[in-house]
Amino acid sequence: MSVHSFCGTSRQPSAPWHILGAGSMGSLWATRLARAGYDVRLILRDQARLQAYHAAQGLTLVEGSNAILLPIAAQTPDAADPITRVLVACKAYDAEYAVAQIAHRLSPEAHLILLQNGLGSQQAVAAQVPHARCVFASSTEGAFRDGDWRVVFAGQGHNWLGDPEQGAAPTRLDDLQHSGIRHEWSPTIMSRLWRKLALNCAINPLTVLHQCTNGGLKAHTQTVDALCIELSALLVGCAQPEAAVNLSAEVHRVIDATAQNYSSMYQDVAQRRRTEISYLSGYACQAAQRIGLDTPHLHAIHQQLIAHLTHLGLPSH
Ligand code: NAP
Repeated sequence: MSVHSFCGTSRQPSAPWHILGAGSMGSLWATRLARAGYDVRLILRDQARLQAYHAAQGLTLVEGSNAILLPIAAQTPDAADPITRVLVACKAYDAEYAVAQIAHRLSPEAHLILLQNGLGSQQAVAAQVPHARCVFASSTEGAFRDGDWRVVFAGQGHNWLGDPEQGAAPTRLDDLQHSGIRHEWSPTIMSRLWRKLALNCAINPLTVLHQCTNGGLKAHTQTVDALCIELSALLVGCAQPEAAVNLSAEVHRVIDATAQNYSSMYQDVAQRRRTEISYLSGYACQAAQRIGLDTPHLHAIHQQLIAHLTHLGLPSH
């Protein structure tokens, strides 16, 4: 594999892109924006992570057999420069705390793009920074780290961005276009996020409990169908009827199309990483309780998942 060092072509000065969390997705966005010549600034956890980053001399983006090293600027949350736009690329369970650390730096016109999977963390972050604009995102791109400060662009996909209050698109999204980050403004972002949450709830916990690929769920069709009935009722009850349309058919289509794959939750557990269950099946169970909807299968699967994670010594929230 060839590794190139890249300094980028500077663009007209414009507000920098701050990237909060330089993990898989944060690095995937940061490297593409920097490669296109934008001013990108990584916000890392603390001084120790900053030192480790400086030792690596930048972030490396791996695409196929090409690797490119981008010496992107980095800082800790207590840096002084104001933040006008920031991609929040932490896991759902870290997002609220990470944003709290930079809240004092947000300029009056700031907007945050929230890339978290599931639901719940976006609303918590938005409540924390009521004067900033929060854009919710749903991504089908795939990335993983094959080493510290290295990201592999593993799956081409698309990003939908939208405002839960149904406002217009922010003006600076052109930067994403110029950086090759496929995206579109979605007037129905909440419906997309609910649909994705329902697909996740119907598939991912079962793959963990049955220790199987997505295709392995073909042996558990009855449970999948029972979950789909409850999840459809939940979506309707939560004023997301569009997200419920043909849910069961799509779940089975995804199971077929990704039969050989292991779900993201399965991979998290296999690698002994904390899962985002509180923002997935946990969020769904709480929403059902809130509207007084009986969802016995969803509830039972969520409880089994908690017991399974606890048994493995992994966090269950
Ligand atoms: P990840 O690789 O674990 O990266 C998360 C990053 O956040 C880590 O680098 C972590 O720092 C950093 N972080 C946590 N707390 C922080 C803080 N207080 N200040 C600064 N940085 C902090 O996670 P990911 O895979 O990119 O996923 C991010 C979100 O995108 C998740 O909700 C995930 O479900 C969603 N998503 C991921 C993919 C994918 O293919 N990876 C696809 C679609 C959606 P350390 O490195 O120091 O731990």
